[in-house]
Amino acid sequence: MQEYLQDKTFLMAQKQLDNVAEAMNLDSSVHARLRYPRKSLIVSVPIRLDNGRTKVFTGYRVQHDMTLGPSKGGIRFHHHVTLGEVTALAMWMTWKCALLNLPYGGAKGGVCCYPEEMSTNEMERVARRYTTEILSIIGPEKDIPAPDMYTNEQTMAWIMDTYSNFMGYAVPGVVTGKPVSVGGTRGRIEATGQGVAITVKRALNKLSPDLNSPTVAIQGFGNVGSVTAKHLYGMGLKVVAVSDVHGAIRNPKGLDIPKLFDYMKDSGTVVGFEGSEKIDGMALLEEDVDVLVPAAVAGVITEKNADRIKARIIAEGANGPLSTEADRILLDKGTLIIPGILANAGGVVVSYFEWVQDTQHLFWSEEEVVEKLSFLMNQAFDEVYDLYDRKGVDLRTAAMMIGVGRVAEAKTVRGLYP
Ligand code: NAD
Repeated sequence: MQEYLQDKTFLMAQKQLDNVAEAMNLDSSVHARLRYPRKSLIVSVPIRLDNGRTKVFTGYRVQHDMTLGPSKGGIRFHHHVTLGEVTALAMWMTWKCALLNLPYGGAKGGVCCYPEEMSTNEMERVARRYTTEILSIIGPEKDIPAPDMYTNEQTMAWIMDTYSNFMGYAVPGVVTGKPVSVGGTRGRIEATGQGVAITVKRALNKLSPDLNSPTVAIQGFGNVGSVTAKHLYGMGLKVVAVSDVHGAIRNPKGLDIPKLFDYMKDSGTVVGFEGSEKIDGMALLEEDVDVLVPAAVAGVITEKNADRIKARIIAEGANGPLSTEADRILLDKGTLIIPGILANAGGVVVSYFEWVQDTQHLFWSEEEVVEKLSFLMNQAFDEVYDLYDRKGVDLRTAAMMIGVGRVAEAKTVRGLYP
């Protein structure tokens, strides 16, 4: 029943909280309450496959905290989804939302399945049945899901439709990351990568304001990686290496990112792009660049390769790309690590804008969305950097101290019910 208590990712998230609690002398009662999720739901998701057979998947929805408002977090469809991982991700969402001053707690959900092997119809049946099973604990005022790995705008439209059918009227605010035609916001697709680019630029301005044409390597060329590349290229950085699941490419003179987007449309991969040299996927992480953005999967920088990383700044586009040991090795070398709860927060910030627009039935222009996103990302970066400067702690600790501190303060004034 309590399998998540032994899960490696959950224990890492809990340990991070314990360390920060000690560093900030957190009240022991509040600390104890924050170490566990408020609510965890495990559901069976039976669906009829296209071949007529029935298959039962396992789904989860974990709400870590609801002190500041409804909980918020993505839903992933993946065969690695476990209760422990979902619980850790829900906890990180709590700190991320509080750090960005969003009126939310953290949640996460997922269905353990093989999306690559499933048809669109099967994916729709999984999404609709999973929604039905968690229906009683989600809603615009309770818990608001969003896309994550192997879920997208279409998945959110199915969830919104299922929920709305049960309620008897359209409820766009039950999910974010929806298509604009059903209450989604402009700018949501670009938001995470754009946010990563904003924090990288801010960090470069602090560390090396006079650096001419800084170089960057980006692991992963999906939603986060490709949009980060586009915006950093637009800001005048030289993107010298990128990768996807098929391999990595480099060009020390800088890759032409708009042309790479065109090439990707036909080829489906970055590999083979004109004027680039193919290199090993993991070797990309060790490129001699000013900035490294891991924007693919978790756990790619560990104690095995951390001492070979040369970048001066690492911005975590992905969730959890660095292990705790890698963090320590890189911090000892003087690397500036922008943690995921700050660097990749652009997605949840614009999700919040979407929810606000749905609630008010008043929709904003893309310019308005981008302006507000830039303001919140820069403000959060400056708060974290200021604490790092004043207290001599690393950026991850500083970001968590702010996030945990805001939740703790609200918990203290609200008191413990009953
Ligand atoms: P995505 O599926 O759009 O893209 C993933 C990319 O990584 C693809 O290019 C894929 O080919 C590549 N990839 C996969 N395995 C790889 C490997 N071993 N080496 C190199 N490349 C590899 O996913 P995404 O939405 O861009 O998410 C990427 C990461 O960012 C995930 O960790 C996700 O949790 C995190 N994240 C995403 C968002 C968002 O709004 N999309 C928000 C916050 C955090």
